[in-house]
Amino acid sequence: MLQEIREILASDGPFAARCPGYEYRAEQIAMAEAIADAFVHKEHLLVEAGTGVGKTVAYLTPAILYAQAGSRVVVSTHTINLQAQLLTKDIPLMREVMGKRKFKAVLMKGRANFLCLQELDHAKAIITYHHDPLFEKLKDWAKASKRGDVGELDFAFPDWSEVCSNQDTCRRQECPYYGDRCFYYRMRRDAETADILVTNHSLFFSDLALRMVDPKTSILPDYSAVIFDEAHHLEDIASGTFGLEFSNYRVTSIINRIRKRKDITIEPGVLDYIQRINASLFDSFTSFGKQEFFFDELYRSGLKQLIEQNASQLIDQIDGLNTQLLDQDAEGDPVLKDRITSYRHILGRMRDELNDIFFAEQPGFFRWCEKVFGGRYFTCYLRMTPTNVADILRDSLWGSVDSVICTSATLSNSGTFGYIRRRLGMEQAEELILGSPFDFQSQALLYVPDDLGEPSNEPSYADALAARIRELVEASEGRSFLLFTSYRMLNEVFNRLVDEVPFRLLRQGEMSNERLLKEFREDEQTCLMGVHSFWEGVDMKGERLSCVIIDKLPFAVPDSPVHKARCKAIEREGGNWFRDYAIPNAQIRLKQGFGRLIRTKNDCGVVAILDSRIHTKYYGREFLRHLPHCKATKRMDRVIDFLGRTHSPSS
Ligand code: SF4
Repeated sequence: MLQEIREILASDGPFAARCPGYEYRAEQIAMAEAIADAFVHKEHLLVEAGTGVGKTVAYLTPAILYAQAGSRVVVSTHTINLQAQLLTKDIPLMREVMGKRKFKAVLMKGRANFLCLQELDHAKAIITYHHDPLFEKLKDWAKASKRGDVGELDFAFPDWSEVCSNQDTCRRQECPYYGDRCFYYRMRRDAETADILVTNHSLFFSDLALRMVDPKTSILPDYSAVIFDEAHHLEDIASGTFGLEFSNYRVTSIINRIRKRKDITIEPGVLDYIQRINASLFDSFTSFGKQEFFFDELYRSGLKQLIEQNASQLIDQIDGLNTQLLDQDAEGDPVLKDRITSYRHILGRMRDELNDIFFAEQPGFFRWCEKVFGGRYFTCYLRMTPTNVADILRDSLWGSVDSVICTSATLSNSGTFGYIRRRLGMEQAEELILGSPFDFQSQALLYVPDDLGEPSNEPSYADALAARIRELVEASEGRSFLLFTSYRMLNEVFNRLVDEVPFRLLRQGEMSNERLLKEFREDEQTCLMGVHSFWEGVDMKGERLSCVIIDKLPFAVPDSPVHKARCKAIEREGGNWFRDYAIPNAQIRLKQGFGRLIRTKNDCGVVAILDSRIHTKYYGREFLRHLPHCKATKRMDRVIDFLGRTHSPSS
């Protein structure tokens, strides 16, 4: 396999022949060879590959060769963007490059992405959909679509959750569509003959969770190896998937579905009462003055008894409703009988989850609440999350799959993979760190001032920060990307600059992220201000982006229950939460933010980290040591000079 890889990726190989401007990259070959080696020797591998290594090609090449020899490989990503890039760009290119070596790649998505034809039939019988133009469009689309994938819809169908495939309502072999027509099972059958399965971390871990309960049950077909791209997200995704989540809409949703059925006779008062208890249970959480908090914080305010009473009453009422459904007369009406069975499954699952979230003994898990705001509504999630996924993954993943490759541009800290290994329980794995082939010494300048003082919530600090950001965006003629660690500081700076700078300021949240990026790309006189998701995955090439400004070191929010629970667990085991968790976590995030600047060998620019702690704190140097090696300065005149030298003036 190594020889084939060298031939495929050689400077005069098939890749070079098909990609004008293809450059031989030693780092790319090294990564591809290390992965091939790991496959052959059935080992796990951690690979950090800096920007520009070309890591998708570096892992797809050995993955395809290995799969052709009879070992199916899963490629799992975190973001839809990367998944789309793999399917529309990288895999089609690999097909051309591989020539006669044919391979089959299938995208596997979760059930909820697919239209359920049985649910569609049921919806047709619901009076509220009669003459609904959107429902008519949905029916037309269902007739024409080959995949039934919600991603194909060019309009929003608000009740998608009523018509998508759902494990509680799916009749599997008993469904008349199961054979060849069901979109979801057609995708699964297609996957059974695939060489490469493309999926996301969340579906991968859902499959793993099923296999843990019963090794014969699975969503994905069996595979020999897994490649996790964007592997720095694995801990968070695994925590979510192996935990439980119950939102304020769950009960309302099933009650509304039952209400719409004219052939089910449940007293409306019974349904009203269940909704009232549900509202009252969630009221206690929504009225608590924090966005994220442990149940215990709320319980300490004296509400424990009331909450548990409401939870227990809700469970009883759900049980009662379940019994009433069982008593419905569905004799001679198989469709109704089937509906009732589905609703009873949903209610049974809800009951069990509520019981687990409020009453079950679950050592190693913590209970917390998160309120997520979106437009005019917000969702309140009650969650039970494992503190440490390392123990879960040790047997189920590292001990069960022949070869697991974890890769990302940001996986290591202080030159080692110690942090990620500890967090994921990945003790046995080979390692490889590949730097970027770009020349950061000449392409980038790092600016870290030492005269701003330590970050604080004082208005005077926001004044000073905004003034410095103003100098930077003016020096870069607006071609700036501003990354913040909080919406609060983003808004403080926005309010101070919006009428002061001769550039348009775009803020995350004003419109969709895609739209923001499009406007930023197309309008030269625009700066983009973002938090969270903008720290990674944004690929802005060329002079449009000349300056990345980071407001401060991206330590996790200290108040977040996830952060607190993990830190507490580390301390309990004799570790140091700041050294073992907070610093490495922030280092990875800072590297991601830095990585937004240089995307090609022709890009140039400045990364400004406006946090004096890099100079004053003992850990500051550690942050710098693991950023790409480039010249650094504390002086603004050098920044202005660098930007003047490296950029042609905008017209
Ligand atoms: S098999 Fe399941 S998902 Fe498919 S159409 Fe039937 S009920 Fe829906």
